Amino acid sequence: MALEVTNKDSGVNRLELLKKLQSIDDKSHDFSRQKKTIESRIDAKEARIADATARLADKHEELLDFQKNIDKKHLDLKCIEEGILKSRERLLQIKSNREYSAHLSEIGGKEADKGLLEDEILSMMTEFENIATAEQELKAEVEREKKELVEIKAEVENELSLLGKNIAETRSEWEEAARQVDKAALLQYKRLLGKDGQAVVEVVAQTCGGCCMQITAQTLNLLLRREDIILCQNCEKILYIANE
Ligand SMILES: [Zn+2]
Repeated sequence: MALEVTNKDSGVNRLELLKKLQSIDDKSHDFSRQKKTIESRIDAKEARIADATARLADKHEELLDFQKNIDKKHLDLKCIEEGILKSRERLLQIKSNREYSAHLSEIGGKEADKGLLEDEILSMMTEFENIATAEQELKAEVEREKKELVEIKAEVENELSLLGKNIAETRSEWEEAARQVDKAALLQYKRLLGKDGQAVVEVVAQTCGGCCMQITAQTLNLLLRREDIILCQNCEKILYIANE
């Protein structure tokens, strides 16, 4: 299948121009991918910051809860201590020996409870310190990530501005080449490019690089004559055969 040719003699030239357009469009496609990759660095860092911030909030909540538990234990301790004090005052008023020793052993029990509670509070304080340290580490992590985000944003801005220049150059290169292609060919090119980004494909071992179908001997002959723009009969992509 040959595309209607307005000027047969310019067939090869047109094909070269279309190949050039394709290579520029490949480059543009690559630039878009690069742009996405560059921009995704910011998204990735922001996600890390959000994650660390959420973990910090959880840790802070845990710390507050733990502090409440410790406060409760301190209140319990105070109650026991007051109880012991009152018991000791009462002890002074007891006259009978039996009652005295019973009361004394009751105080002993309270003292033992107090000791246990003090130990518990002590180990809770250690745990509290651990949670507080973990919270500080998370705070530092969030700060570090935020600092890195500022650096990444500056880098990304630089890279995007460089890329922007390349994209602009490529665009004018494209316009320049497109101006030299006739309307029918350019239209066909654009239509094909819009499908999957590939309009001009190489024929290798008599196989279309676009759809992998074998091309006919007639199409191969037309290609070798290098006079017209030849389309694949199956996928309609613009075919070319490498120069020997
Ligand atoms: Zn094909």
